[in-house]
Amino acid sequence: MLKLIHLPAFEDNYIWMLADTECGVALAVDPGDAQPVEAKLHEQQWQLGCILITHHHPDHTGGVAALAKRYHPQIIAPDDPRIGYASQRVEDGETVDIDKLQVQAQVLAVPGHTLSHVAYHLNEWLFCGDTLFSLGCGRLFEGTPTQMLSSLDSIRALSTTTLICAAHEYTLANARFALSVDPDNTDLQNRYAAVMRCRHEGLPSLPVTLGSEICCNPFLRVDAPAVQAWCAQHEPQPQTRIDRFALLRQAKDHFRG
Ligand SMILES: [Zn+2]
Repeated sequence: MLKLIHLPAFEDNYIWMLADTECGVALAVDPGDAQPVEAKLHEQQWQLGCILITHHHPDHTGGVAALAKRYHPQIIAPDDPRIGYASQRVEDGETVDIDKLQVQAQVLAVPGHTLSHVAYHLNEWLFCGDTLFSLGCGRLFEGTPTQMLSSLDSIRALSTTTLICAAHEYTLANARFALSVDPDNTDLQNRYAAVMRCRHEGLPSLPVTLGSEICCNPFLRVDAPAVQAWCAQHEPQPQTRIDRFALLRQAKDHFRG
């Protein structure tokens, strides 16, 4: 039985961990900082069996060197020379064995935020780094709108019960933009109210089901009539779904809500 744990790091990152509590072995996803991971392992007397890395940004990889040195875990990463310490490089469609936790993860290439970004689908959880956030998506630092939309489409095709474990707590700010695009969406209004309550209590807004995101997240709803109407208002030329995605992403980049 695996247990999901979130460790807050920096301003608004989450380092996700999965622990096999019977065997006392855990994995960590995108440990940008070694300290909270070490503290958790020490507190629970767990070993670190594996590290999963989604992309090269320092807030996702900064703790890898220290953890590698101390625990010698299996380290799984996309094939990108900007990511060091990997013991295994993975690509789209691959299934990786995580022997120490006796589980497997499916790898999805999700370029857009960065070109080599991957997501890991492990049992009911999706560790998607900075690709999909609750009610938002990652900024396009390296990829094109076409690539990012195709990445989001491949996530959208997973089971609606999949639990989205994004790497940042951006949900409230994302909700304000989402509501500006899709104000009459009652699922979104309810999600916003629920997230407000969570955050007031200091609880994370994640993980969230993919089903909820499909109902609420404008970046997964470029084909929804309300989102199409918003796009048509902002750009009267006829638009493809890629144009609509690009328009939304651009508007979010400049949104001050
Ligand atoms: Zn990033």
